Amino acid sequence: MSASTIKNIMATYEQKRNNAFYNLAQKKEKIFNQIPRLRDIENEIKTCAIKSAKSILLAESNEKNSYVQSLEDNINILTKEKESLLKQANISLSDLEPKFECLKCNDTGYVNNQKCNCFIQQLINDLYNDSNLLNFNEQNFNNFNLNIFSDEVDIKYGISPRNNIKNIQKEAKNFIKNFNSSKQKNLFLFGPTGLGKTYLSSCIANELLKMQKTVLYQTAPLLINSLIDDKINNKGNNKLYNEVFKVDLLIIDDLGVEFTNSMRFEELFTIINTRLINSKKTIISTNLNLDELQSKYDDRIVSRIIANYSLLKFIGEDIRIKNR
Ligand SMILES: [Zn+2]
Repeated sequence: MSASTIKNIMATYEQKRNNAFYNLAQKKEKIFNQIPRLRDIENEIKTCAIKSAKSILLAESNEKNSYVQSLEDNINILTKEKESLLKQANISLSDLEPKFECLKCNDTGYVNNQKCNCFIQQLINDLYNDSNLLNFNEQNFNNFNLNIFSDEVDIKYGISPRNNIKNIQKEAKNFIKNFNSSKQKNLFLFGPTGLGKTYLSSCIANELLKMQKTVLYQTAPLLINSLIDDKINNKGNNKLYNEVFKVDLLIIDDLGVEFTNSMRFEELFTIINTRLINSKKTIISTNLNLDELQSKYDDRIVSRIIANYSLLKFIGEDIRIKNR
């Protein structure tokens, strides 16, 4: 990744932190106007803390002297007074703290000198030119309207599309709940277009991003093309390639529409297989049925999917057409 990318991301973090502190200052101003004594307390605590730090620095022995002790006692008394004033006014202590977007790294981008997942996610977005971004915010389980699926039992499958999608949702929620478990299977979403497969992937991605997991979404043709491009043009520096294997969740959408040849099969197999070996979760969605899958892809790919993925079949009429 380029130095300017990192610089841009660091600038966003700085902006986020500045905003958090600015908002806090505004909020504090309001609270202090409401309870002026709090402003005095805050200033007194600051003064005591500075005096105490100075005294510790200048002290010749490591032992705490009585002066420092008295300052610390004073800070404790002031803090208790502050807490009780806040309690009386029904203000929580956390209202006097900055609100960062990422609670893991406090919008610094780093945790224990390691890049935070929110940082890695931004790098992924940048590497893929944001082409991997689904409509994450709007598409969530709360907006998932089950009523657009018919509740008439489909004779062929012995279940109504609505009950079927309910079961699928349940599987998806379990997938999120057990995301860190190596026993949790991956998800293979299949069935005709327009039945909410991409929408469901997006809901899952949304929840996992909230859990600070990194997510990469790509359609199969784009993914395989960019990997092959990367191999050819970027020898020894395969950044895209690495993320495909390292990202917490990889979503391969629209499998089956890509142009296939043996080199492409090999790429796809390597992705699926390596992620399985490393216990990294993957969601694959496709309009192919299982027979078509079997005739299009070689046995190694199909057998890995059948053994390691929950096969979730989407049934019903195209809800996008129905909604028009
Ligand atoms: Zn973070």
